[in-house]
Amino acid sequence: MRALKSRRSFPPRTCPTPFTWRGCCRTTDPASSRPSTARSTAATNAPWKTIGVASARYEEEGLVEFSGRTWRPAFERWTPVIEATSGCAWGRCAFCTLYEQERFRVVPLERFCRDLDELKAVVPSARRLWLTGGDPFQMGFRHLEDRALAVRDRLIKMQTIAMFASVRDIKRYSDRELHRLSLLRVGGLVIGMESVDDRTLALAGKGYTARDVTEQCLRLERAGMEYSLIYMTGLAGDGRGRATARRTVEAVNNLRPRFFGTTSLTIFPGSRFERRVREGSFATASEAERIDELIELVRGLSFRTFFDARSPTNAIPVAGLLPYDRDRILATLDHARTHIDEDALAAYRRELREP
Ligand code: SF4
Repeated sequence: MRALKSRRSFPPRTCPTPFTWRGCCRTTDPASSRPSTARSTAATNAPWKTIGVASARYEEEGLVEFSGRTWRPAFERWTPVIEATSGCAWGRCAFCTLYEQERFRVVPLERFCRDLDELKAVVPSARRLWLTGGDPFQMGFRHLEDRALAVRDRLIKMQTIAMFASVRDIKRYSDRELHRLSLLRVGGLVIGMESVDDRTLALAGKGYTARDVTEQCLRLERAGMEYSLIYMTGLAGDGRGRATARRTVEAVNNLRPRFFGTTSLTIFPGSRFERRVREGSFATASEAERIDELIELVRGLSFRTFFDARSPTNAIPVAGLLPYDRDRILATLDHARTHIDEDALAAYRRELREP
């Protein structure tokens, strides 16, 4: 690790940290290339112009060391980040090629503590911390407890140690372990559930069922651990979007995620979905159908949550607090649906690239 060269604001004010919303959606910032249909219906200055690979820049700045691809949701863009893992131990999601070149690795505790000391020198009053890596919750109870204790010892005002997590990983923790981690301020889990429909989950290779999603999220709630859910439109394929969205709404209405975000399936080279499309065994959903899917979600979600469909993969960016902004979001989506330029939106999606 490099020594801290100077006391700078953290993250550096000039650092664009082009992180993307859900690590798994892996796209560059296409803000300037969104088609006019999307721009005219955009929900104000969307913070989707954010996330990406932070490692190089942070290393340039001489702050905390990053060895792998670093992702975090746009709403965490001002949260101090620290590397806890790199790569993804699962690596089998059919739409994802993000960590193909990286092996999953847990950052040794010693290095984690050194990074924490440096971070403390810059932001001693940090109340929130984002652990990087495809899925740091994979590291298991002992590793996570050690790191949470290290954070507690150094950053005494810490309230939330947030990270990506998967439904698969929550199953590995006992109720007692979840409760213990919750007491140690582990929370703010961002879960890329993608769908709560068995067929769609199997198609995506997520490694869990619809029932697992609801059971494991309820366990988090009982443990007092806050979490957010991410849904992926278009994942079920042509003609199946609305039914999948309805099934998802039915299931998640029993849950209380703090935040409900959406991404949209984008076929990246090298993914299993790309092969399926080439072989003709998977037909992608149209952009109009994806909007219908979003409408189904916004109409159906009955709990109070922040709904955010502003990641670059959402051709029509909308966001707002449900239920208060429901009508406004639906009006935007209805307008986009009526005036849709399918070719322009499809071209926009084709231009999306991994960073
Ligand atoms: S869990 Fe799936 S989507 Fe997320 S990084 Fe791993 S392979 Fe990609």
